[in-house]
Amino acid sequence: MFTTTLLDWFALNGRDLPWRHTTDPYAIWLSEIILQQTRIQQGMNYWHHFMRQWPSVEDLAQATEDEVLRAWQGLGYYSRARNLHTAARQIVARGGFPTTIETIKQLKGVGDYTAAAIGSIAFGLPAAVVDGNVYRVLARHYGIDTPINTTQGKKIFTELAQSLLPTDQPALFNQAMMDFGAIQCTPTSPKCVICPLQETCEALRTGRINELPVKERKLTIQTVHLTYIYIRCKGKTAIRRRPAGGIWQGLWEPTHLEDLGMSKEELTLIAKDVKHILTHRILLTDFYLLEADTPPVLPNEYIWVDEEDLDKYALPRLIEILLEKLHQKA
Ligand code: SF4
Repeated sequence: MFTTTLLDWFALNGRDLPWRHTTDPYAIWLSEIILQQTRIQQGMNYWHHFMRQWPSVEDLAQATEDEVLRAWQGLGYYSRARNLHTAARQIVARGGFPTTIETIKQLKGVGDYTAAAIGSIAFGLPAAVVDGNVYRVLARHYGIDTPINTTQGKKIFTELAQSLLPTDQPALFNQAMMDFGAIQCTPTSPKCVICPLQETCEALRTGRINELPVKERKLTIQTVHLTYIYIRCKGKTAIRRRPAGGIWQGLWEPTHLEDLGMSKEELTLIAKDVKHILTHRILLTDFYLLEADTPPVLPNEYIWVDEEDLDKYALPRLIEILLEKLHQKA
């Protein structure tokens, strides 16, 4: 259903692009590399220019890098031009354009997406392309909210695209997906009212068009500095329970420097910059010892416990490490 509707839509609405009138892998590869970071209209001019200047991969391989970079001028991302030139020489050296997905991927600058595009369009290989357009169309139509920038998401969407691809028409299907995402199911304001898939579209049915596809926000890793004091006073030490809401909720920890109201110079350093990595934080901790004859005044949440009873309290792994360092020094 999805596939036939999509192909019918493509027959009526597909874009007429010059590289769609050829099965020459060189011309198709060139278009895919140019379009990696370039809009179609601008890319088309460059594609014509390259095809005129170097009509075959052998011609491109014989050009100097300077000539290729000059022809590329204005497109930006010059590594694409250098890769293109290197790959042209790779192709000539191996005696012709590679014809399997794996060998196409060995060309410099060619990843999964480009290999699937070239393989399907030039050689009819049944490999589904998966890019931003494909993620969007599939996430919306099938109502999939697995983040697309996770390993699991990539797997789910690649397998789904692959299962929808008709093995006898891979080129048409891939081009249809690209165009459908670019023209119909656009990132903002998709044309749902005139969409041939509206009957089966899960995002439209559940009102989640603006929520799909989901992208996981990459959390920035923060570095946090901590200073703990182990107070030893007549065989007892002070600990407090971590409050709700932060890290180590409900676990116990020694005294914070700021709760003690003393300067570091009055304390004995046990360990400095002990590194401990949590999911979204890197902790760098200094650990000091204070041996006192009378218990210092601490905020109410601290309790005094026998040192030998410390192991009866649930401690974060970092605190256990600090205590091991203390015992090594003792
Ligand atoms: Fe995309 Fe709207 Fe069509 Fe669903 S109905 S596939 S959201 S254009």
